[in-house]
Amino acid sequence: MPDPAGNPDVLIVGSGPAGAMAARDLARAGARVTVLERGAGADPGNGLIGLLRRREAMYIAPGVLLLRSLRVGGGSVTFFHTAMPTPLDMFARRGVDLAADLAAVRDELPNAPLRDDLRGPMTRRIEDAARALGLPWQPLSKMIDQTRCAHGHCPPQAFWTAQGLLDQAAAAGARLLTGVQVDSVLRENGRAVGVRAHHGSAETTYRAGRIVLAAGGTATPAILRASGIDAAGDGFFCDPLRVVMATLPDAERRDEISMSAGFVDGPAGYMLSDITVPENFFRAFALAGGRPDRLWSYSRTAMIMVKIRDDIAGAIDGTGRAWRHFGAADKARMRTGVDRARAVLAAAGASRTYASPWVAAHPGGTVRLGELVDASLRCQMDDLYVCDASVIPEPWGLPPTLTLLALGRYLARNLG
Ligand SMILES: Cc1cc2nc3c(=O)[nH]c(=O)nc-3n(C[C@H](O)[C@H](O)[C@H](O)COP(=O)(O)OP(=O)(O)OC[C@H]3O[C@@H](n4cnc5c(N)ncnc54)[C@H](O)[C@@H]3O)c2cc1C
Repeated sequence: MPDPAGNPDVLIVGSGPAGAMAARDLARAGARVTVLERGAGADPGNGLIGLLRRREAMYIAPGVLLLRSLRVGGGSVTFFHTAMPTPLDMFARRGVDLAADLAAVRDELPNAPLRDDLRGPMTRRIEDAARALGLPWQPLSKMIDQTRCAHGHCPPQAFWTAQGLLDQAAAAGARLLTGVQVDSVLRENGRAVGVRAHHGSAETTYRAGRIVLAAGGTATPAILRASGIDAAGDGFFCDPLRVVMATLPDAERRDEISMSAGFVDGPAGYMLSDITVPENFFRAFALAGGRPDRLWSYSRTAMIMVKIRDDIAGAIDGTGRAWRHFGAADKARMRTGVDRARAVLAAAGASRTYASPWVAAHPGGTVRLGELVDASLRCQMDDLYVCDASVIPEPWGLPPTLTLLALGRYLARNLG
């Protein structure tokens, strides 16, 4: 029965992978859906100063930057397109069975290892060296439509983003309002009935039958804290990484797709993969790594990403400021991974390696399933749901987008 005031059935806050999938599926199921998104349409670019100014980069510990995307499509517009398998058991132990949703997402969206002709020379060189050391270096699944790639090159439209889901949601009747920053949840008689938000300097409220927070691992807990749910944001993980680099005199970087292959050491809590960071980040990393002499060696620099499974620590406050420390166990995992990466680069022919500062890229575990959120993803009051990286219940240490897409589908199926 439509709301006589014309309010939507569902308000979704955030248009990243989880929010976009939930919006698309709910709209297709007949719900009237409005998505409120903080980012605006235009691409703001990836210059470091701009990222800091827009809080798409923020320091979460001395010298440690956390990166996120406050844009239409969320992290899907800047991510590396790697689709790692979902930890089904971790969710099943809390009553969430994602198997069918994961299978449906895998059937629908591109996710396959790169064809051989799309692998760059630098990534092959790293793979050969890793294999020579006996490491089980394997191709990683990529969310890239390889039917659009030819002659060793993938055009921009081959790289999957959540924009396709948002277009399908719009075709099914959903509305996307951009430039709207949600601040808190409106509660009446113990139920969520809407959100308070601002658009530029104008403050406004939006009402709906149900509210879904999908604003990402740092923004969702901030909204909840500002709504009186103080346990949100009590601790987070962020899957920090370092990039280990070395110049290979006889190598040349060419159209390399990041994270084309790698190796996960689950018990030791780290993964390694090839990576290509943008040139501005490379220069910042070379300076921070004490190698100004390497500033002009971008095209000959081999890079390996070391990403660890960090412990849940620190806090996120009601303004979205995140702060934490990395303990001895985190540092030991990172050291082990970095040593492995240095060994691979040495086997590839490098004589001197250097490493970037720590960078965090997957904040999550801030509104944990089984603690603040139940198996229907309901959060602490009726008609309020959370569906994004916040609900991941344990440190996991691997890229989560495929899992978050399955979670968006799961929520829509259960709400629809
Ligand atoms: C450099 C980099 C590379 C990565 N590579 C990979 C990869 O290869 N594979 C992978 O799986 N993952 C990768 N990730 C991580 C991945 O991008 C994120 O984990 C994923 O996007 C999280 O999805 P989400 O749905 O939880 O939220 P997000 O993608 O964070 O989306 C949240 C949305 O909410 C909006 N929002 C935030 N606050 C508000 C507010 N107050 N009001 C309204 N809207 C708001 C944001 O603008 C954003 O659009 C990478 C991340 C980075 C930084």
